[in-house]
Amino acid sequence: MHELSIAYSVVEIATQSAVEAGATRVKSVHVRLGALAGVVRGALEFSYEIACAGTMLEGSSLVVTELPARVYCAVCGIEVELESVQLFCCPRCDTPSGDLRQGRELDVEYIEVDLPGDEHGNTSAGDTKRNSEQE
Ligand SMILES: [Zn+2]
Repeated sequence: MHELSIAYSVVEIATQSAVEAGATRVKSVHVRLGALAGVVRGALEFSYEIACAGTMLEGSSLVVTELPARVYCAVCGIEVELESVQLFCCPRCDTPSGDLRQGRELDVEYIEVDLPGDEHGNTSAGDTKRNSEQE
């Protein structure tokens, strides 16, 4: 099951970013998964829990955003979503197209972490607003 090794690398990437951010705990990891990435979502979610055990990610959740496969259709001149990943044809005009524009993604989009002394743990970098209004 190669999902397990993928899960381990997801945990590794998340741990690295969390450590760099000075976080104490990872709450959730958001990944993007393309329809053609060759990864079974359920198997990945299952493997993730195993991979998290004993790390700072233990108890965190894996949030998967599934991306459909999209090809560029030269006839229609647009990017279209494939109806089936077995059939590389434009669903509008039935022209075969192998010009894949989306669907092989498998990456960590962002993580949510707990920072020391941060009650709400919202760590979108650059979005930390402090109440520093002067009177
Ligand atoms: Zn078309």
